Amino acid sequence: MRESFLHFLWRWRRFDARDLATTEGLPIDISHPGEWNIHAGPDFFNARLRIGDTRWAGNVEMHLRASEWLAHGHSGDPAYDNVVLHVVWEEDTPILRAGGERIPCLTLKDRTPSGLLEAYQRLEQERSWVPCQPSIGKAPEIVRLNWLDRLAVERLEQKNAAIEEALRATGNHWEEAFYRSLARTFGLKVNAEPFEALARSLPLLTLARHKNDPAQLEALLFGQAGLLDEPCEEEYPQMLAREYRFLKHKYGLASLPASQWKFLRLRPANFPTIRLAQFAALVHRSAHLLSCVLDARNIRELEHLFSATPGEYWSTHYRFGHPSARREKVPGRDFIRLLIINTVVPFLFHYGKVKSQEQYQKRALALLEELPAERNSMIDNWQAMGIKARNAAHSQALIQLKTMYCTPRRCLECAIGTALLKQENS
Ligand code: SF4
Repeated sequence: MRESFLHFLWRWRRFDARDLATTEGLPIDISHPGEWNIHAGPDFFNARLRIGDTRWAGNVEMHLRASEWLAHGHSGDPAYDNVVLHVVWEEDTPILRAGGERIPCLTLKDRTPSGLLEAYQRLEQERSWVPCQPSIGKAPEIVRLNWLDRLAVERLEQKNAAIEEALRATGNHWEEAFYRSLARTFGLKVNAEPFEALARSLPLLTLARHKNDPAQLEALLFGQAGLLDEPCEEEYPQMLAREYRFLKHKYGLASLPASQWKFLRLRPANFPTIRLAQFAALVHRSAHLLSCVLDARNIRELEHLFSATPGEYWSTHYRFGHPSARREKVPGRDFIRLLIINTVVPFLFHYGKVKSQEQYQKRALALLEELPAERNSMIDNWQAMGIKARNAAHSQALIQLKTMYCTPRRCLECAIGTALLKQENS
Protein backbone atom coordinates (compact mmCIF):
# COMPACT_ATOMS: atom_id res chain seq x y z
CA MET A 1 0.00 0.00 0.00
CA ARG A 2 1.11 3.55 -0.68
CA GLU A 3 0.57 6.59 1.45
CA SER A 4 -1.38 8.13 -1.43
CA PHE A 5 -4.18 5.68 -0.58
CA LEU A 6 -4.52 7.39 2.81
CA HIS A 7 -4.61 10.77 1.04
CA PHE A 8 -7.43 9.44 -1.12
CA LEU A 9 -9.38 8.11 1.89
CA TRP A 10 -9.00 11.38 3.78
CA ARG A 11 -9.49 13.75 0.89
CA TRP A 12 -12.70 12.14 -0.27
CA ARG A 13 -13.71 10.92 3.20
CA ARG A 14 -14.03 7.37 1.98
CA PHE A 15 -13.72 5.78 5.41
CA ASP A 16 -16.22 4.90 8.07
CA ALA A 17 -16.58 8.18 9.96
CA ARG A 18 -19.08 6.94 12.51
CA ASP A 19 -17.92 7.48 16.12
CA LEU A 20 -14.66 8.84 14.85
CA ALA A 21 -12.06 9.06 17.62
CA THR A 22 -8.35 9.38 18.21
CA THR A 23 -6.42 6.36 19.40
CA GLU A 24 -6.72 7.85 22.89
CA GLY A 25 -10.52 7.88 22.60
CA LEU A 26 -11.17 11.60 22.02
CA PRO A 27 -14.05 12.15 19.57
CA ILE A 28 -13.14 13.76 16.22
CA ASP A 29 -15.45 15.88 14.13
CA ILE A 30 -14.17 16.93 10.67
CA SER A 31 -15.57 20.21 9.30
CA HIS A 32 -13.05 20.37 6.46
CA PRO A 33 -10.27 17.87 5.60
CA GLY A 34 -7.92 20.68 4.48
CA GLU A 35 -6.20 21.46 1.21
CA TRP A 36 -4.21 18.60 -0.26
CA ASN A 37 -0.52 19.57 -0.47
CA ILE A 38 1.58 17.76 -3.06
CA HIS A 39 4.74 19.75 -2.21
CA ALA A 40 7.03 19.61 0.82
CA GLY A 41 5.43 19.87 4.25
CA PRO A 42 2.34 18.32 5.83
CA ASP A 43 -0.07 16.48 3.51
CA PHE A 44 -3.14 18.65 4.16
CA PHE A 45 -3.13 22.32 5.10
CA ASN A 46 -5.75 24.24 7.02
CA ALA A 47 -8.00 21.40 8.07
CA ARG A 48 -10.79 22.36 10.44
CA LEU A 49 -11.51 19.79 13.12
CA ARG A 50 -12.84 19.38 16.58
CA ILE A 51 -10.93 16.94 18.78
CA GLY A 52 -12.54 16.37 22.13
CA ASP A 53 -13.75 19.80 23.22
CA THR A 54 -11.17 21.77 21.23
CA ARG A 55 -11.68 23.26 17.76
CA TRP A 56 -8.58 23.23 15.59
CA ALA A 57 -7.54 24.87 12.35
CA GLY A 58 -4.26 23.32 11.32
CA ASN A 59 -2.44 20.72 9.27
CA VAL A 60 -2.84 16.97 8.90
CA GLU A 61 0.07 14.63 8.27
CA MET A 62 -0.30 11.05 7.02
CA HIS A 63 1.79 7.90 7.19
CA LEU A 64 1.17 4.22 6.75
CA ARG A 65 2.79 3.63 10.15
CA ALA A 66 2.96 6.26 12.86
CA SER A 67 6.69 5.59 13.36
CA GLU A 68 7.38 7.07 9.89
CA TRP A 69 6.94 10.44 11.58
CA LEU A 70 10.24 9.75 13.35
CA ALA A 71 11.88 8.06 10.36
CA HIS A 72 11.09 11.07 8.17
CA GLY A 73 12.62 13.45 10.74
CA HIS A 74 9.45 15.44 11.42
CA SER A 75 10.23 15.74 15.13
CA GLY A 76 11.87 19.11 15.62
CA ASP A 77 10.98 20.24 12.07
CA PRO A 78 9.06 23.54 12.49
CA ALA A 79 7.09 22.79 9.28
CA TYR A 80 5.25 20.12 11.29
CA ASP A 81 4.63 22.15 14.48
CA ASN A 82 1.14 22.99 13.34
CA VAL A 83 0.04 19.39 12.72
CA VAL A 84 -3.19 18.92 14.65
CA LEU A 85 -3.90 15.34 13.59
CA HIS A 86 -1.72 12.43 12.52
CA VAL A 87 -3.69 10.09 10.24
CA VAL A 88 -2.14 6.64 9.85
CA TRP A 89 -3.01 3.18 8.63
CA GLU A 90 -1.78 1.79 11.92
CA GLU A 91 -0.28 3.36 15.00
CA ASP A 92 2.77 1.27 15.84
CA THR A 93 4.07 3.87 18.30
CA PRO A 94 2.70 7.01 19.94
CA ILE A 95 4.21 10.22 18.55
CA LEU A 96 5.06 13.06 20.91
CA ARG A 97 5.67 16.73 20.27
CA ALA A 98 8.94 18.34 21.45
CA GLY A 99 7.19 19.29 24.73
CA GLY A 100 6.22 15.65 25.37
CA GLU A 101 2.54 16.07 24.47
CA ARG A 102 1.07 13.27 22.34
CA ILE A 103 -0.03 14.20 18.81
CA PRO A 104 -3.67 13.12 18.30
CA CYS A 105 -3.74 10.11 16.00
CA LEU A 106 -6.48 8.58 13.86
CA THR A 107 -6.08 5.08 12.36
CA LEU A 108 -7.91 4.16 9.17
CA LYS A 109 -7.10 0.46 8.93
CA ASP A 110 -10.35 -0.67 10.58
CA ARG A 111 -12.41 2.09 8.97
CA THR A 112 -11.71 1.36 5.31
CA PRO A 113 -14.47 -0.45 3.39
CA SER A 114 -13.18 -3.88 2.34
CA GLY A 115 -14.46 -3.48 -1.26
CA LEU A 116 -12.57 -0.23 -1.63
CA LEU A 117 -9.37 -1.73 -0.23
CA GLU A 118 -9.64 -4.71 -2.61
CA ALA A 119 -10.30 -2.43 -5.62
CA TYR A 120 -7.24 -0.37 -4.69
CA GLN A 121 -5.10 -3.49 -4.32
CA ARG A 122 -6.28 -4.79 -7.69
CA LEU A 123 -5.24 -1.50 -9.27
CA GLU A 124 -1.85 -1.66 -7.55
CA GLN A 125 -1.18 -5.22 -8.69
CA GLU A 126 -2.55 -4.95 -12.24
CA ARG A 127 0.21 -5.32 -14.85
CA SER A 128 -1.71 -4.14 -17.94
CA TRP A 129 -0.42 -1.36 -20.20
CA VAL A 130 -2.42 0.98 -17.97
CA PRO A 131 -3.35 -0.46 -14.57
CA CYS A 132 -7.05 0.43 -14.78
CA GLN A 133 -7.39 -1.15 -18.22
CA PRO A 134 -9.97 -3.77 -17.14
CA SER A 135 -12.27 -1.17 -15.59
CA ILE A 136 -11.58 2.14 -17.33
CA GLY A 137 -14.82 1.83 -19.28
CA LYS A 138 -16.72 2.20 -15.99
CA ALA A 139 -15.40 5.72 -15.38
CA PRO A 140 -18.13 8.22 -16.32
CA GLU A 141 -17.50 9.86 -19.68
CA ILE A 142 -17.87 13.34 -18.22
CA VAL A 143 -15.05 12.57 -15.76
CA ARG A 144 -12.81 11.30 -18.56
CA LEU A 145 -13.46 14.30 -20.79
CA ASN A 146 -12.94 16.87 -18.02
CA TRP A 147 -9.77 15.11 -16.96
CA LEU A 148 -8.43 15.12 -20.52
CA ASP A 149 -9.10 18.87 -20.72
CA ARG A 150 -7.10 19.41 -17.54
CA LEU A 151 -4.28 17.16 -18.71
CA ALA A 152 -3.94 19.02 -22.01
CA VAL A 153 -3.35 22.22 -20.03
CA GLU A 154 -1.05 20.41 -17.60
CA ARG A 155 1.05 19.21 -20.52
CA LEU A 156 1.39 22.75 -21.83
CA GLU A 157 2.33 24.00 -18.38
CA GLN A 158 4.97 21.30 -18.21
CA LYS A 159 6.40 22.48 -21.52
CA ASN A 160 6.66 26.00 -20.08
CA ALA A 161 9.76 24.89 -18.19
CA ALA A 162 11.66 24.10 -21.40
CA ILE A 163 10.64 27.43 -22.94
CA GLU A 164 11.71 29.30 -19.81
CA GLU A 165 15.06 27.56 -20.04
CA ALA A 166 15.40 28.55 -23.71
CA LEU A 167 14.52 32.14 -22.81
CA ARG A 168 17.13 32.18 -20.05
CA ALA A 169 19.73 30.80 -22.45
CA THR A 170 18.95 33.47 -25.05
CA GLY A 171 18.79 36.47 -22.69
CA ASN A 172 14.98 36.54 -22.94
CA HIS A 173 15.06 36.78 -26.73
CA TRP A 174 11.70 35.32 -27.72
CA GLU A 175 12.46 35.00 -31.45
CA GLU A 176 15.79 33.26 -30.79
CA ALA A 177 14.20 30.90 -28.26
CA PHE A 178 11.41 30.07 -30.70
CA TYR A 179 13.94 29.47 -33.50
CA ARG A 180 15.86 27.00 -31.33
CA SER A 181 12.74 25.19 -30.25
CA LEU A 182 11.43 25.03 -33.80
CA ALA A 183 14.77 23.66 -34.99
CA ARG A 184 14.55 20.90 -32.40
CA THR A 185 11.09 19.91 -33.62
CA PHE A 186 12.30 19.99 -37.23
CA GLY A 187 14.79 17.29 -36.28
CA LEU A 188 11.96 14.96 -35.23
CA LYS A 189 12.91 12.48 -32.54
CA VAL A 190 15.97 11.12 -34.30
CA ASN A 191 17.76 14.37 -35.14
CA ALA A 192 16.31 16.66 -32.47
CA GLU A 193 19.64 17.04 -30.65
CA PRO A 194 21.83 17.94 -33.65
CA PHE A 195 19.15 20.26 -35.01
CA GLU A 196 19.00 22.13 -31.71
CA ALA A 197 22.80 22.17 -31.40
CA LEU A 198 22.94 23.62 -34.90
CA ALA A 199 20.49 26.40 -33.99
CA ARG A 200 22.46 27.16 -30.83
CA SER A 201 25.68 27.43 -32.80
CA LEU A 202 24.18 29.62 -35.51
CA PRO A 203 22.33 32.65 -34.08
CA LEU A 204 19.12 33.67 -35.77
CA LEU A 205 20.56 37.16 -36.13
CA THR A 206 23.31 35.75 -38.39
CA LEU A 207 20.80 33.87 -40.52
CA ALA A 208 18.54 36.93 -40.65
CA ARG A 209 21.32 38.96 -42.31
CA HIS A 210 21.10 36.55 -45.25
CA LYS A 211 17.38 35.95 -45.24
CA ASN A 212 16.93 37.30 -48.75
CA ASP A 213 19.48 34.92 -50.27
CA PRO A 214 18.24 31.29 -50.12
CA ALA A 215 21.62 29.91 -51.22
CA GLN A 216 23.47 31.74 -48.44
CA LEU A 217 20.91 30.49 -45.92
CA GLU A 218 21.51 26.93 -47.10
CA ALA A 219 25.27 27.50 -47.09
CA LEU A 220 25.11 28.64 -43.46
CA LEU A 221 22.82 25.84 -42.30
CA PHE A 222 24.39 22.95 -44.22
CA GLY A 223 27.92 24.22 -43.67
CA GLN A 224 27.38 24.70 -39.97
CA ALA A 225 25.80 21.23 -39.82
CA GLY A 226 29.06 19.81 -41.21
CA LEU A 227 27.21 18.45 -44.26
CA LEU A 228 29.34 20.35 -46.78
CA ASP A 229 32.61 18.82 -45.57
CA GLU A 230 32.47 15.83 -47.95
CA PRO A 231 33.78 16.61 -51.46
CA CYS A 232 31.00 16.45 -54.06
CA GLU A 233 31.16 16.57 -57.85
CA GLU A 234 27.97 18.56 -58.32
CA GLU A 235 28.19 22.30 -58.83
CA TYR A 236 25.48 23.35 -56.33
CA PRO A 237 27.03 21.75 -53.21
CA GLN A 238 30.43 23.05 -54.31
CA MET A 239 29.02 26.57 -54.51
CA LEU A 240 27.43 26.18 -51.05
CA ALA A 241 30.77 24.98 -49.65
CA ARG A 242 32.56 28.04 -51.09
CA GLU A 243 29.90 30.36 -49.63
CA TYR A 244 30.13 28.66 -46.28
CA ARG A 245 33.92 28.97 -46.13
CA PHE A 246 33.56 32.70 -46.63
CA LEU A 247 30.70 33.12 -44.10
CA LYS A 248 32.37 30.83 -41.59
CA HIS A 249 35.42 33.05 -41.59
CA LYS A 250 33.32 36.24 -41.54
CA TYR A 251 31.31 35.19 -38.46
CA GLY A 252 33.96 33.08 -36.74
CA LEU A 253 31.75 29.97 -36.86
CA ALA A 254 32.79 26.44 -35.87
CA SER A 255 30.88 23.73 -37.72
CA LEU A 256 29.41 20.65 -36.06
CA PRO A 257 30.55 17.12 -36.96
CA ALA A 258 28.53 15.58 -39.80
CA SER A 259 28.60 12.23 -37.97
CA GLN A 260 25.90 13.35 -35.53
CA TRP A 261 23.21 13.37 -38.22
CA LYS A 262 21.20 10.17 -38.54
CA PHE A 263 19.84 8.99 -41.87
CA LEU A 264 19.50 5.30 -41.07
CA ARG A 265 15.98 3.87 -41.08
CA LEU A 266 14.48 7.27 -41.92
CA ARG A 267 12.15 7.74 -44.84
CA PRO A 268 13.96 9.96 -47.38
CA ALA A 269 11.37 12.71 -46.81
CA ASN A 270 12.58 12.85 -43.20
CA PHE A 271 16.30 12.96 -44.02
CA PRO A 272 17.95 15.79 -42.10
CA THR A 273 19.12 17.24 -45.43
CA ILE A 274 15.49 17.70 -46.53
CA ARG A 275 14.44 19.11 -43.16
CA LEU A 276 17.39 21.52 -43.20
CA ALA A 277 16.49 22.66 -46.72
CA GLN A 278 12.89 23.23 -45.58
CA PHE A 279 14.17 25.09 -42.52
CA ALA A 280 16.27 27.34 -44.75
CA ALA A 281 13.23 28.00 -46.95
CA LEU A 282 11.22 28.91 -43.85
CA VAL A 283 13.81 31.42 -42.62
CA HIS A 284 13.90 32.83 -46.16
CA ARG A 285 10.14 33.39 -45.80
CA SER A 286 10.59 35.19 -42.48
CA ALA A 287 13.31 35.62 -39.87
CA HIS A 288 10.63 36.75 -37.39
CA LEU A 289 8.83 33.49 -37.15
CA LEU A 290 7.37 33.97 -33.70
CA SER A 291 5.86 37.30 -34.77
CA CYS A 292 4.30 35.55 -37.77
CA VAL A 293 2.93 32.86 -35.47
CA LEU A 294 1.48 35.45 -33.08
CA ASP A 295 -0.15 37.22 -36.01
CA ALA A 296 -1.57 34.08 -37.65
CA ARG A 297 -5.34 34.07 -37.27
CA ASN A 298 -6.03 30.42 -37.94
CA ILE A 299 -4.54 27.05 -38.81
CA ARG A 300 -4.65 27.77 -42.52
CA GLU A 301 -2.34 30.76 -42.09
CA LEU A 302 0.04 28.69 -39.96
CA GLU A 303 0.03 25.88 -42.49
CA HIS A 304 0.80 28.38 -45.21
CA LEU A 305 3.69 29.85 -43.18
CA PHE A 306 5.33 26.48 -42.61
CA SER A 307 4.83 25.12 -46.12
CA ALA A 308 7.93 26.89 -47.45
CA THR A 309 9.38 24.88 -50.34
CA PRO A 310 13.15 24.40 -50.67
CA GLY A 311 15.05 25.48 -53.76
CA GLU A 312 15.28 23.72 -57.13
CA TYR A 313 18.25 21.47 -56.25
CA TRP A 314 16.14 19.68 -53.64
CA SER A 315 13.36 18.80 -56.04
CA THR A 316 15.75 16.20 -57.53
CA HIS A 317 17.78 15.27 -54.45
CA TYR A 318 17.35 13.87 -50.95
CA ARG A 319 21.08 14.09 -50.21
CA PHE A 320 24.01 15.94 -51.75
CA GLY A 321 25.42 14.18 -54.79
CA HIS A 322 22.58 11.62 -55.12
CA PRO A 323 20.12 12.64 -57.85
CA SER A 324 16.61 11.22 -57.56
CA ALA A 325 13.30 11.42 -59.41
CA ARG A 326 11.78 14.90 -59.43
CA ARG A 327 9.53 15.60 -56.47
CA GLU A 328 8.75 18.84 -54.67
CA LYS A 329 9.96 18.72 -51.06
CA VAL A 330 7.26 20.93 -49.58
CA PRO A 331 6.71 19.96 -45.92
CA GLY A 332 3.78 17.57 -45.56
CA ARG A 333 0.63 18.39 -43.63
CA ASP A 334 1.37 15.90 -40.83
CA PHE A 335 4.84 17.38 -40.35
CA ILE A 336 3.46 20.92 -40.20
CA ARG A 337 0.88 19.81 -37.65
CA LEU A 338 3.66 18.33 -35.59
CA LEU A 339 5.42 21.71 -35.66
CA ILE A 340 2.22 23.42 -34.57
CA ILE A 341 1.50 20.96 -31.75
CA ASN A 342 5.03 20.74 -30.40
CA THR A 343 6.35 24.27 -30.84
CA VAL A 344 3.74 26.79 -31.93
CA VAL A 345 1.09 25.87 -29.37
CA PRO A 346 3.46 25.70 -26.34
CA PHE A 347 5.02 29.06 -27.30
CA LEU A 348 1.65 30.74 -27.78
CA PHE A 349 0.54 29.38 -24.43
CA HIS A 350 3.67 30.48 -22.60
CA TYR A 351 3.79 33.85 -24.35
CA GLY A 352 0.19 34.52 -23.29
CA LYS A 353 1.04 33.59 -19.72
CA VAL A 354 4.20 35.68 -19.46
CA LYS A 355 2.68 38.71 -21.19
CA SER A 356 -0.64 38.30 -19.36
CA GLN A 357 -2.42 38.13 -22.70
CA GLU A 358 -4.96 35.42 -22.24
CA GLN A 359 -6.04 35.49 -25.86
CA TYR A 360 -2.82 33.66 -26.86
CA GLN A 361 -3.45 30.92 -24.31
CA LYS A 362 -6.99 30.53 -25.57
CA ARG A 363 -5.74 30.42 -29.14
CA ALA A 364 -3.19 27.76 -28.23
CA LEU A 365 -5.89 25.54 -26.75
CA ALA A 366 -8.24 26.25 -29.65
CA LEU A 367 -5.53 25.16 -32.11
CA LEU A 368 -5.13 21.85 -30.31
CA GLU A 369 -8.87 21.31 -30.35
CA GLU A 370 -9.04 22.09 -34.05
CA LEU A 371 -6.20 19.81 -35.10
CA PRO A 372 -6.84 16.10 -35.57
CA ALA A 373 -5.44 13.70 -33.00
CA GLU A 374 -1.84 12.61 -33.52
CA ARG A 375 -1.25 9.12 -34.80
CA ASN A 376 1.25 7.05 -32.88
CA SER A 377 1.43 3.74 -31.06
CA MET A 378 0.44 5.25 -27.72
CA ILE A 379 -2.73 6.79 -29.12
CA ASP A 380 -3.45 3.50 -30.94
CA ASN A 381 -3.19 1.64 -27.62
CA TRP A 382 -5.64 4.01 -25.96
CA GLN A 383 -8.00 3.59 -28.86
CA ALA A 384 -7.80 -0.21 -28.57
CA MET A 385 -8.97 0.26 -24.97
CA GLY A 386 -11.96 2.27 -26.16
CA ILE A 387 -10.46 5.68 -25.32
CA LYS A 388 -10.57 7.64 -28.53
CA ALA A 389 -8.72 10.93 -28.97
CA ARG A 390 -11.12 13.32 -30.70
CA ASN A 391 -8.49 15.95 -31.45
CA ALA A 392 -4.88 16.94 -30.75
CA ALA A 393 -5.82 18.29 -27.32
CA HIS A 394 -7.00 14.79 -26.44
CA SER A 395 -3.98 13.04 -27.93
CA GLN A 396 -1.66 15.37 -26.00
CA ALA A 397 -3.70 14.73 -22.86
CA LEU A 398 -3.50 10.96 -23.35
CA ILE A 399 0.28 11.16 -23.75
CA GLN A 400 0.40 13.15 -20.51
CA LEU A 401 -1.88 10.65 -18.78
CA LYS A 402 0.17 7.61 -19.79
CA THR A 403 3.62 9.08 -19.14
CA MET A 404 2.91 11.13 -16.00
CA TYR A 405 0.20 9.08 -14.29
CA CYS A 406 -0.31 5.53 -15.58
CA THR A 407 3.35 4.53 -15.94
CA PRO A 408 4.41 5.93 -12.53
CA ARG A 409 1.14 4.47 -11.16
CA ARG A 410 -0.25 7.73 -9.83
CA CYS A 411 -3.79 6.38 -10.11
CA LEU A 412 -4.93 8.02 -6.90
CA GLU A 413 -4.02 11.43 -8.29
CA CYS A 414 -5.86 10.67 -11.52
CA ALA A 415 -9.51 11.67 -11.89
CA ILE A 416 -10.27 8.34 -13.58
CA GLY A 417 -8.66 6.30 -10.80
CA THR A 418 -10.40 8.41 -8.17
CA ALA A 419 -13.75 7.99 -9.90
CA LEU A 420 -13.29 4.22 -10.21
CA LEU A 421 -12.42 3.86 -6.53
CA LYS A 422 -15.22 6.14 -5.45
CA GLN A 423 -17.62 3.69 -7.07
CA GLU A 424 -16.52 1.07 -4.54
CA ASN A 425 -18.77 1.63 -1.56
CA SER A 426 -18.96 -1.71 0.14
S1 SF4 B 1 -3.42 6.78 -13.90
FE1 SF4 B 1 -5.63 6.89 -14.26
S2 SF4 B 1 -5.92 6.24 -16.37
FE2 SF4 B 1 -3.87 5.64 -15.75
S3 SF4 B 1 -4.07 3.56 -15.01
FE3 SF4 B 1 -4.29 4.85 -13.24
S4 SF4 B 1 -6.46 5.20 -13.05
FE4 SF4 B 1 -6.12 4.44 -15.09
